[in-house]
Amino acid sequence: MLFRLVLVCLCVLGVLFSLLPEANAGQPNVIVIVSDDQGWSDVGFNGCKEIPTPHLDALAKSGVAFDCGYASHPYCSPSRAGLLTGRYQQRFGHECNPGAHGNDDAIEMEGLPLSETLLSTVFRSAGYRTGAIGKWHLGDEPQFWPTERGFEEWFGFSGGGLSYSGDLGKKPPLHGVLRNGDVVPKDELTYLTDDFSTEAVKFVEENRARPFFLYLAYNAPHAPDQVTREHLKKTSHIEYGGRAVYGAMVAAMDEGIGRVVQALDDQNLRDETIIFFYSDNGGRATLARNFPYRGHKGMLFEGGIRVPFCVSWPE
Ligand code: CA
Repeated sequence: MLFRLVLVCLCVLGVLFSLLPEANAGQPNVIVIVSDDQGWSDVGFNGCKEIPTPHLDALAKSGVAFDCGYASHPYCSPSRAGLLTGRYQQRFGHECNPGAHGNDDAIEMEGLPLSETLLSTVFRSAGYRTGAIGKWHLGDEPQFWPTERGFEEWFGFSGGGLSYSGDLGKKPPLHGVLRNGDVVPKDELTYLTDDFSTEAVKFVEENRARPFFLYLAYNAPHAPDQVTREHLKKTSHIEYGGRAVYGAMVAAMDEGIGRVVQALDDQNLRDETIIFFYSDNGGRATLARNFPYRGHKGMLFEGGIRVPFCVSWPE
């Protein structure tokens, strides 16, 4: 088990880090797409028949589908810490989700330790333009934000979950969607999954002339279960209920990934861009499916850590 867990981070990061010394020698762009709590069998390339994921399936077909791919932890923040550092998260004390924002000074200090070097910093040192879009969940306080951790651009939210309309409820404004640390007005948001895809397309277009590293971390299909009527049409063949909504959330993300790939095609960048797709942990306890594996998010059974995972680099 330990060996397998090590393999995921080390394989992903090892490939990426090994590319970096090749400065100026045709540096490929790198996009790491992360989904959130998606079940192993909730993607077509792992056999799912009821949720349409044509764009993810095309990525897998054009590259490699890792049917035995593992996250380094069975839930959100530690898994992301492992992914972005290439280290076991427990080696630097990050084996739990950070606490919620509050008056407790100790809680406000919680986040991915500043002593750790992130993949973004390494890419940036190698001359890449670096961007983070979506869910962060590696610390709510400004010193932990992506813009302090090697990312030159950031559009997303710092916490572990958010309403898909961007509604904050009782959370403070800085826990909403931010652009480089500034609050994005609510009327500029539509449906978060779509907004993140739109930002990713813009990032590709704006950086077409230089190598870039984009970390696109959707919060889909993490709770809350919210989707637009338009996206819900994609799962109208499933009896209306939680599974249909969850499936539509996955399908909305897949559509967005299709838009990002199309943007790469439009800019003639597809051949020189490596795309990683990976879920941060196994499928959530309800609505997701990890068939044929046992367990779900939060567990060290296969269903908690074995994730849909593919890599595509046409060239
Ligand atoms: Ca997660």
